[in-house]
Amino acid sequence: MVLIIGTGSSVVSAKTVAIIGAGFSGTMTALHILLKTDNCRILLCEKSANFGPGVAYGTARSDHLLNVRASNMSAYPDRPNHFVEWLQASDLDQSAQMQSTTAGTFVSRQLYGRYISTLLARANESQSGVGRVTLVPEEVINLVPNDAGYRLLLAGGREHQVAAAILATGNVLPNKPQTGPYIANPWLSPFAEKLDSDKPVVIMGSGLTMVDVALQLRGSEFVGPLIAISRRGLLPRTHSSTRPWPLPRLTPQEQSSLAQLLLRIRKEVTAARAEGISWHGVIDSLRPITSGLWQGLPEEEQRRFLRHARPWWDVHRHRTAPAIGAKLQNLVDSGDLVIRAGQITEIDIDDAQAVVHYRPRYTSRSDTIVAQRIINATGMLSADKSEDSLLQRLAEQGLVRFDRHRLGLDLTAKLQAIGASGRVTPSLWALGPIGRGVFWECTAVPDIRNQSAHVAEQFSTAASG
Ligand SMILES: Cc1cc2nc3c(=O)[nH]c(=O)nc-3n(C[C@H](O)[C@H](O)[C@H](O)COP(=O)(O)OP(=O)(O)OC[C@H]3O[C@@H](n4cnc5c(N)ncnc54)[C@H](O)[C@@H]3O)c2cc1C
Repeated sequence: MVLIIGTGSSVVSAKTVAIIGAGFSGTMTALHILLKTDNCRILLCEKSANFGPGVAYGTARSDHLLNVRASNMSAYPDRPNHFVEWLQASDLDQSAQMQSTTAGTFVSRQLYGRYISTLLARANESQSGVGRVTLVPEEVINLVPNDAGYRLLLAGGREHQVAAAILATGNVLPNKPQTGPYIANPWLSPFAEKLDSDKPVVIMGSGLTMVDVALQLRGSEFVGPLIAISRRGLLPRTHSSTRPWPLPRLTPQEQSSLAQLLLRIRKEVTAARAEGISWHGVIDSLRPITSGLWQGLPEEEQRRFLRHARPWWDVHRHRTAPAIGAKLQNLVDSGDLVIRAGQITEIDIDDAQAVVHYRPRYTSRSDTIVAQRIINATGMLSADKSEDSLLQRLAEQGLVRFDRHRLGLDLTAKLQAIGASGRVTPSLWALGPIGRGVFWECTAVPDIRNQSAHVAEQFSTAASG
């Protein structure tokens, strides 16, 4: 990379990289770059000003548990016991934030957020890290390419010259806080406040985000009707202890046809059951090849998966900790949470209420619920509808393009951004959930920790070239 002199920017260096987003993806990429290089500087930019935890692990509630066992949550791909050892060495009072079960140990997301923040703080203070990471508590609103890399523009008006940039901006979510009857993003807006006790609250979706929202509402003073509506009304399953099942050897037909693949998975489940192993073992056995399977499916088969099989896959693949599963079951059994299967067809919103029209599954009738609040727990926006200034501007300049399903960005296997022309955009990488359309299985720690090491490796190779 060229040495940049006198650009007039506040940071001038041939080897400065901007990492945009300091959740798990961005923070771990920064730590790997520190390890792999000895003179590169990092601008770690985070609009929430909370460096390390990101959306998932920034919760203030200690009863929000990880949905992955602690033994599989190490931040480093080559040190599988790192998180467990950190827990053992830590003098924090963990008893209230940890559930040990026969299915494994599940700790609070808050504790995990502290783990990541601690790693960042330690790296920053270490001999190799001192003075190399600048924390920028601001939103990045644009990257403008120039001969030296990119001019990075911040919402507050300042700018920096960087040689390369790494997008670690997380899921594409609505990013405007709301206070009225419609809550577009429950991670951003308080949704359990100022509720009447007798009027219904509706949650859109019945996945893990719905579970968080429902438990939080039932832990608040709200005692009115609580109804979750999703197309199929499927609830996330719970982790259980089971023996592992061997990775199936799939035929080429099973790898290119969704119907054949699902049939094979069902056969594996039957065979596993005959040996006393539950379906959990079969789903887990597919984990190492899930991303490859997704990428190998023809485009139309991928679309079929998104339309028909995704809800089924999601509830089996993304499971709750046993304690959370038990609480969820109690809510459903007691009627404190009503699950409706159906399609929401229209929502009429005014200042005081949301009138929700939906068509119950397998019927042609339309039912109506007059809710005081409706909370969208269905997750992400389509990438082309992103409200994020940065993504919009990068797309307008042709520096990035959306993947074929518009779930996120189009990326190469090496996580380089692909521009509107179809060519790789120089010195621009992206990782984490934003690559879901390309890789599918890239939203959880066990996958992102590999990606962050990989991106850091590429940046350090480029920087030393
Ligand atoms: C509620 C919840 C629970 C989860 N539980 C688990 C679990 O138990 N185990 C597991 O493996 N995975 C879990 N996940 C998956 C989770 O997505 C990943 O583990 C991981 O946290 C994703 O991190 P990230 O850094 O990519 O995204 P995020 O955590 O979303 O971080 C992205 C960051 O980028 C910042 N940002 C975005 N745009 C800009 C900008 N323009 N300028 C500056 N900053 C910006 C945001 O403020 C945010 O902090 C969970 C996810 C959620 C939502």
